Amino acid sequence: MIWCSVVSDGSSETAAIATAPCPSASGAAVTRSGSLCRVRVSVSPPFRARCSCGLVNSGTFPASGLAWVTCPEGEASALVNWVGNGIPLPTATPPRAAEHGLDGRPTLVQNAETLAHLALIGRYGAAWFRSLGTPAEPGSMLVTLIGAVHRPGVYEIEIGQPAGEILELAGGPAAPLGALLIGGYFGTWAAPEAACPLPFSVAGLSAVGASPGAGLIAALPASSCGLAETARVARYLAGESAGQCGPCVFGLDAIAGALENLAAGRSFRADLLRRWMGQVDGRGACHHPDGAVRLIRSALRVFAAEIGRHAQGLCCGRRALGVLPVPPRRQP
Ligand code: SF4
Ligand SMILES: [Zn+2]
Repeated sequence: MIWCSVVSDGSSETAAIATAPCPSASGAAVTRSGSLCRVRVSVSPPFRARCSCGLVNSGTFPASGLAWVTCPEGEASALVNWVGNGIPLPTATPPRAAEHGLDGRPTLVQNAETLAHLALIGRYGAAWFRSLGTPAEPGSMLVTLIGAVHRPGVYEIEIGQPAGEILELAGGPAAPLGALLIGGYFGTWAAPEAACPLPFSVAGLSAVGASPGAGLIAALPASSCGLAETARVARYLAGESAGQCGPCVFGLDAIAGALENLAAGRSFRADLLRRWMGQVDGRGACHHPDGAVRLIRSALRVFAAEIGRHAQGLCCGRRALGVLPVPPRRQP
């Protein structure tokens, strides 16, 4: 049995189903509309993938014969829970799906980038893959660059390449930078002068408390307000709660509200915000609230000097919003 999940760059995602030892496999995909869709895949030639919604595409790479499936991403335990029980909600871990998944059996939930690497390692060998990257973190990875760079997009980098060099792949900064968000919306803000010389790797970025995470670097221009940007993302993340764990549902909503107050220059209690974050961290069935809290803690650290300015109504960058894209707010 093979399950597929995917890497997302926010616009297109690819889940590759590598050559499998079994003649057929099943998968689950979350569609762009948010609904779930079963996918049945026949791996033995001719390759076929069928789904009920029509949003999942499939085909084969002509040279290798490798089969591929594209679908938007989904939380791994939610996929397994939905296919097994019809409930599209994350479940508590442990146990992980790899130990106790569908029907209690070990279940593979894999992402596209890993499978693509496996296919290339299968073709060219481990030494070829290890010729890039660092000894501890070999190979390449995809990084999405957004914000104040000349050519935003997805770039393949060598793991360990300095973060500043990666910005240059996208044409370099398009404006003086105020901060870098590293690792995605569950990632960490860092000062550009501290982060740019660092190797883009787990070991390298730890010097600023960051990690490659989802492989995103967002370049925040100095003209924008990092607190206001973080407040928008915090509200988005609060709305993305699956609604089954109290600390996540109520905590993230309250935390997002506090950040919105701070960003708007309204009354704000830093001690309450920090207490709420401590009460949410590690308290959900999945890591959704942990990631949100990580982002907000880093914002309070990196933009500490701005907190007082907001209280006095002196931040002029808070109106320059929209560096970090979020979907339109859903109507209640
Ligand atoms: S922590 Fe939040 S997102 Fe995760 S399962 Fe619980 S309510 Fe859902
Ligand atoms: Zn500000």
